[in-house]
This record gives sequence, C-alpha cells and structure tokens, in this order.
Amino acid sequence: ATPTSIMVGTGRAAQAGVLFRKGDSLQALRDVKVVAVDKTGTLTKGAPELTDFVCASGENQDQTLAAIAALENYSEHPIAQAIVSAAKDKHVTLPKAEQFESLTGLGVTAQIGADQWHVGADRLMTQLGADLSAFTEQAQTLAQEGKTPMYAARNKQVIALLAVADPIKETTPRAIEQLHARGIKVVMITGDNRHTAHAIARRLNIDEVVAEVMPEGKVQAVQALRETHQHLAYVGDGINDAPALAVADVGIAIGTGTDIAIEAADVVLMSGDMQGVVTAIALSHATMRNIR
Ligand code: ADP
Ligand code: MG
Repeated sequence: ATPTSIMVGTGRAAQAGVLFRKGDSLQALRDVKVVAVDKTGTLTKGAPELTDFVCASGENQDQTLAAIAALENYSEHPIAQAIVSAAKDKHVTLPKAEQFESLTGLGVTAQIGADQWHVGADRLMTQLGADLSAFTEQAQTLAQEGKTPMYAARNKQVIALLAVADPIKETTPRAIEQLHARGIKVVMITGDNRHTAHAIARRLNIDEVVAEVMPEGKVQAVQALRETHQHLAYVGDGINDAPALAVADVGIAIGTGTDIAIEAADVVLMSGDMQGVVTAIALSHATMRNIR
C-alpha cells in the first residue's frame, strides 16, 4: 500500500466515523478472520435493569434490597447502578455501609452494623463457602433467559437472588450478520455467567463463547484465540478491555467507551456500536483493493 492511498483511506474512514490511529491497522483489518467481542456495553447497551429479586423465607424484602443497594451505592459497575435505581424506585432508606470493597470480576462487600455483606456472582459465593443450593435452580432459569443472576449473602449466608438484564443494542444483530457474510467468525468474551452468555450468544448467532473470565483473563482468552486464528480483532469499551485491545492484531474501541480503552486501541468507532466494525472492515477492503 502506498502512503497516499492509506491517507486517502483513513480520511474516508474518518468521515464515516471510523478513526484509524495507525495507517497499518487499515491493512491489518482487511485480513481479519475472527472478531472477538466484549459483551457488556459492546453487544449490549451496558445499561442493565433489575428484573428479579427473590428473598429467602423470613427475610424482609425491602430491608434486604436496601442493604444490597447500600453496598452497590459505592460501586461503579453498571450492575450496581441497576440495583441502586431499583431501590430508589421503591423509596427504601439505605442503611450505612462501611469498609466497602469492590472485588473485581466477582462483586462487592461491606459491613452494615455488625454484619458482613457480599453481593455478586456465584463464584464469589463459592469462594466464601456459602450454600447456594436454595437458589440454584431459579438462577439457572434466569440465566437461560439471558439475565445475569447474582446473590446476596449476610455473614456468608445466602439470603437473596437478584437478576439484571442488559438489552442488546438494536444494531448488533445486523452487524453480526454482515460479519458472517464476509466469512468472519464472531467470538464473545465476557465476565458474565456462562448460561447468560450462551443465551445471548444464541440469540445473536455468535459462533463461540468464552464466559466467566476475570478481567485479566480477557488477555489470556485473546492470546489463546490468536494461536488458532491469526488476524484477530478485539472490540471492547471498558477499562478491563484495554489489555485485550492492546494484544489483538487490531484493537477496536467503542467511541462511547472509557478513555483507557480508546487509548489502547488501533481503531476508534464514533458510532458506539458493532455497525462501526462492519464499516471499518468494508473500508479496509475498499482501500486495499484500490491499491493493487
Ligand atoms: P463484564 O463487565 O464482562 O460483564 P465483570 O468482570 O465486570 O464482567 O463482572 C463479572 C461478574 O461479577 C458480573 O456478571 C457479576 O455477576 C459480578 N459483579 C461484578 N461487579 C458487581 C457488582 N458491583 N455487584 C454485583 N455483582 C457484581
Ligand atoms: Mg464492556
């Protein structure tokens, strides 16, 4: 490729809302055979809502929700916002939570009065040695509906099951269809529950799923995929996507995402969705075709 044609190509891309931060990513993108995608905030809106809340018998619904919201009030995770806003809608008064700690990829913990509370994924509860069995069947059903189940434990005693649902972006299904039409394989990489991830992947015809990965696990997942599929692009929006964006052949950040993701990426999409990935790939093909 000549420098001039690359310049013309990147200029045209910029007009289409695709910013190539390096000229050679225009070439690299043409050869991409696999697109690995973060789920939350990339395939989905990243704005979940609380859909289900079930307490163990003998527990007060409102008080339990208030305690959970008191913890989540300190968390910046989108799941936390869903829970806090559900508690606000119910006009419950939040108790005082102290010694809050965010357990990345797992959940949150804090002290309320004399009690230690935990809210998070099943693997957090397993780590605590808490017994989930009263809720596992219901959780499984929720996950199969594409919802993310979570648990709340007081003093390592599981007392509630919660679920949030994060709607798929309107433009996602068509974008995946178009990637498939180009013979590109689409892989979902997420920290979310395995059953939830598979339910959403089925709806979107996603070819492969890597679920329940801790943030640092995203890099390992991308590296493992690269061993079998060269020419891999990674698409993500969050802080925890930055390392994966950096190790992919082409890192593509959603422009509405965090600055840290944008800085780690080779390509930035102004559109804020997967449609931009299709546009970027189409432009790379058009530019490279003109060159030969
Ligand atoms: P992702 O952003 O890829 O969905 P994360 O690594 O941020 O994944 O979170 C993984 C899982 O950890 C979530 O699906 C949830 O079960 C749990 N989790 C993380 N943060 C919180 C939180 N603030 N409250 C409750 N659960 C949480
Ligand atoms: Mg995300």
